[in-house]
Amino acid sequence: MIAAPAESWGRDGGATHPGYAEPVRIDVVTIFPEFFAVLDVSLLGKARQSGALDIRVHDLREFTHDRHRTVDDTPSGGGAGMVMKPEPWGEALDAILTDGSIVIFPTPAGELFTQSRARDLSTREHLVFCCGRYEGIDQRVIDHTRSRAEVLELSLGDYVLNGGEVAAMAMIEAAGRLVPGVVGNPESLVEESHEDGLLEYPSYTKPAVWRGLETPAVLLSGNHAAIAAWRREQQYERTKRMRPELLPPAGDAL
Ligand code: SAM
Repeated sequence: MIAAPAESWGRDGGATHPGYAEPVRIDVVTIFPEFFAVLDVSLLGKARQSGALDIRVHDLREFTHDRHRTVDDTPSGGGAGMVMKPEPWGEALDAILTDGSIVIFPTPAGELFTQSRARDLSTREHLVFCCGRYEGIDQRVIDHTRSRAEVLELSLGDYVLNGGEVAAMAMIEAAGRLVPGVVGNPESLVEESHEDGLLEYPSYTKPAVWRGLETPAVLLSGNHAAIAAWRREQQYERTKRMRPELLPPAGDAL
């Protein structure tokens, strides 16, 4: 096992999470470590404090050796923009990878990130996120990493962001909240959109009437079977309206 470099930004070490043998370790490599200050907020911040998540953010420029801390160069073959150089990435991954690492390259050219992929990532012992910038990372970094670790190229959606940071942050939050102990009530994770193939039903709270709009009467009835049936029907109706492609072909059960 290779240790993370001393320059790691964020929580160091990794206190053991009560009830779990090891925290899930997440390393992020970026040229903008400050993007990840939000990891100290809310449930993920608490999870870092409790030791359920051991998140370390690394500045890619710490792995350069020139005066300007250069991480990019012109594209081979010409063209617009700049490409991230392989050398700093190679050194960063040499320092960070462990035997159990899965390395994620966020990219709009990757496989679509889904709830089931988030659930998969939440069960891994060590996630490494490599945040691209400019036109992306030299392809050899991805190919070389694949020769020594499991690699995923994951897209947040069919649009282009300026960098991998926002995508990595979204993936860390989606996977991190599924790690046992991160969300207080695990039952709240089960009845959610994309967990059973359907979108979630609409939610209401008090007051029963707000600005003339009433909470559906069934939710105030106390009839649990009727509430469950209404919610299921709403799930189908909402999925059909918002995301019909998620519904199974007629005749197939979910
Ligand atoms: N030239 C690349 C292409 O057309 O596929 C886009 C590069 S983009 C401007 C810079 C970086 O942002 C990428 O290397 C990737 O890390 C990140 N990125 C952009 N859009 C993304 C998306 N939809 N999902 C995940 N990462 C994304």
